[in-house]
Amino acid sequence: MTPLAAALFSAIAMTLIVGIRYLITSGGFALATRIRHPGLYAGLQPQMWREVGWSLLSAAIYGIPAGIVAWGWRAHGWTRIYTDIHAFPLWYAPLSVLLYLLAHDTWFYWTHRWMHVPALFRRIHAVHHASRPPTAWAAMSFHPWEAITGAVVIPALVFLIPIHVGALGAVLTIMTVMGVSNHMGWEMFPRALVHGPAGRWLITASHHQRHHDLYACNYGLYFRFWDRLCGTDRGIGTFAGQAKRA
Ligand SMILES: [Zn+2]
Ligand SMILES: [Zn+2]
Repeated sequence: MTPLAAALFSAIAMTLIVGIRYLITSGGFALATRIRHPGLYAGLQPQMWREVGWSLLSAAIYGIPAGIVAWGWRAHGWTRIYTDIHAFPLWYAPLSVLLYLLAHDTWFYWTHRWMHVPALFRRIHAVHHASRPPTAWAAMSFHPWEAITGAVVIPALVFLIPIHVGALGAVLTIMTVMGVSNHMGWEMFPRALVHGPAGRWLITASHHQRHHDLYACNYGLYFRFWDRLCGTDRGIGTFAGQAKRA
């Protein structure tokens, strides 16, 4: 296989992986929603189909840089992904996960805030906010331009920050689970965590729901650090829609 064909094959394979991962994770949380809060998504069927459509298009976009970088890693040793856990001190593995989450969060906060500039919002970010209220299927419901801003983050970080392949798996798992659960319309974490000291710094569904309710606040992804620093944190929301429909 020529290098071009191999890179292309890897991109297609990664697109399938990202798409299937989305369907399984969102499907799983949608099912959990049905069990925990029957009727929460009542009347949202047409919206959910749109969310799935945009999300699968995003999966294709996410798969391209990820697939090319994965091919380069295997074929040419690109990136700073390592497989020997002893290549770095053991304590570095959890630290690297945290570094990736912090870097991703910073990128997300600023690009997300930028996409709330009215002209960009209308052309790009309105797709994501068309979910009113969002459901577990909305995790990757982005306009293609927004999907590109998200798709480049991890493929760029693997060239900058060393990470064990297992730690990278942890980052991708956290990214997927939080992306889905933050949109599903109810809080899965215990009250003690969400309303406790950790909840003051961590973003869960209660925080992101308020972004979808009020728009110009709560822009962060994993941590409330940037929102707090920049005065855009409006606290954690309630699930008014949930009470109404459930
Ligand atoms: Zn937004
Ligand atoms: Zn959202």
